[in-house]
Amino acid sequence: MSGLKIEHVYKRYDNEGKGKKKKVNDYAVKDLNLETNEGEFVALLGPSGCGKTTTLRMTAGLEDITEGNIYINDVRVNDLHPKDRHIGLAFEDYAMYPPLTVYENIAFNLRAKGVPNDEIDRRVREIAPLMQCDDLLDMMPVKLSGGQKQRVNIARAIVRRPELLLMDEPLSHLDGKARQAMRTEIKRLINEIKCTTVYVTHDQLEAMSLADRIAIINFGVLQQYGTPAEVYDDPVNEFVASFIGEPPMNILVTTIIKDAGHFFFTFEGSDLRIQVPERYYGVVSDGFRCKVGVRPMDVLIGGPDSKGTPEKVATFENLGDERRIGIRVGEILLMLITEDDTRYKAGDIIRLEVRAEKTHLFDIETGDRIREA
Ligand code: ATP
Repeated sequence: MSGLKIEHVYKRYDNEGKGKKKKVNDYAVKDLNLETNEGEFVALLGPSGCGKTTTLRMTAGLEDITEGNIYINDVRVNDLHPKDRHIGLAFEDYAMYPPLTVYENIAFNLRAKGVPNDEIDRRVREIAPLMQCDDLLDMMPVKLSGGQKQRVNIARAIVRRPELLLMDEPLSHLDGKARQAMRTEIKRLINEIKCTTVYVTHDQLEAMSLADRIAIINFGVLQQYGTPAEVYDDPVNEFVASFIGEPPMNILVTTIIKDAGHFFFTFEGSDLRIQVPERYYGVVSDGFRCKVGVRPMDVLIGGPDSKGTPEKVATFENLGDERRIGIRVGEILLMLITEDDTRYKAGDIIRLEVRAEKTHLFDIETGDRIREA
């Protein structure tokens, strides 16, 4: 069994839509192909409006599919009613029934399906400790904190023992600390129940820390589908490179020049010169223009004997365990992260070194990755 399979799926909303909604004929999802392994945790990640929720809603049967097929555990579900798809849903709005206790909220769908009372009781009491809501069962929803509501919300989704768990930004109402705690709990829970899970988020940190694989989507189009390490270390294009990682990858327009048999990245309005790794020698030439990307942790401050280019500090931020320094390269602020304790100030001169072997090249027009020959 494959868990979830999305095959050449398109979605076009035929209504004009209101406010910021898309216009007729514009696809919210375009030719999406995605396959999970059974028991895998997959994150759908992308900016607001890229089609994540639409994909999840089509999978749940809450939205028609314009074109293509969706399979859950090898069964084509295009025409199946949501209740027949064996899915559990945890969406960002908790949508609990206020007059019912937490126990009854968790039990609600089982009761609706006519599950006998003793079986309901067994299942609610089995799930409650997993989601740490055993102490909440007699409480009314109005008394719950955001984190507690979210636990109950997820308990309701998994009490049905779904074949596929669909979560849409389940942590978006929680603030920093509660969010972090819930993230850890979701990870533990999914390890325990081993249910194929599709998790929508626009938060790359959440996707990186939770998912086995991440599907990165932009404007309804899948950009890359891979493990956190793959999308971080081997992005297929500029969009993925800049979306994954905090602070984002530095991406600069460069003109490559040849000098004494070596190629160098050069930058308009700056003296910075970085040697091009030899692996790119087959694809670059003197005067070649492209974009070069380097992560802030791969830009370093050289020691006293450094041969790095002297550069002026433009910005300095002390974030406690790390410090972020901005260096102006033409119009761009090149960011670097250091654990060095020195308190720099604007105007200080540092020797800038770049781990050239960690650079990525991108096509200026398309943003596609330029790989070594
Ligand atoms: P967000 O994180 O903001 O929820 P998203 O990635 O989940 O964004 P979707 O909600 O799937 O994106 O929206 C994808 C596109 O489809 C957007 O342009 C949105 O405006 C449009 N859209 C969503 N729902 C409808 C609708 N009912 N009618 C018309 N257009 C819609």
